[in-house]
Amino acid sequence: MPGTGQVYYCEMCGRRIEGRPYRAVVDGVEMVLCASCYLKLSRSGRAVLLREAPRSQPKKKPVLKRRTPKTLPLDQYELVEDYYERIRRAREAKGWTTSVLAQKLRISETMLRRIESGKMKPSISLARKIESLLKIELLEPTELPDMEEDYRSDPGTLTLGDVVIVRKDED
Ligand SMILES: [Zn+2]
Repeated sequence: MPGTGQVYYCEMCGRRIEGRPYRAVVDGVEMVLCASCYLKLSRSGRAVLLREAPRSQPKKKPVLKRRTPKTLPLDQYELVEDYYERIRRAREAKGWTTSVLAQKLRISETMLRRIESGKMKPSISLARKIESLLKIELLEPTELPDMEEDYRSDPGTLTLGDVVIVRKDED
């Protein structure tokens, strides 16, 4: 259907469009544009291209629904409160002295002792190392899982209309 004999004129400059016409929304109005007008307007942010063929658009899966804290970036984790106890217990269970574990972690024994006494927090990347060496968990996601799961009830995504409807239902 597109092409074959159909002639388009740019609704911006009035010239006959050679080649592909651009359907775009300019300042809220749908228009057919020539390439040069479209480029000019889209560069200044006034034109938004319309999709001509909605067929077979690859649908993006909602990523938000996934609950895989393992893939969160490091800065979205924080140490569990009893990290030092977990480290000490796991180390002792393996029969390692603090100096053995310190060597494996490439940190000083003094530092490890400070960590195990809770006086010092290991960095996230050090905590990761300890986790894998001792097979324990020291880090948890900073965000509560509930909050990322139920993004639809986030007040930030409600429009005014939604709020009004909710209130009416409650009356
Ligand atoms: Zn034009």
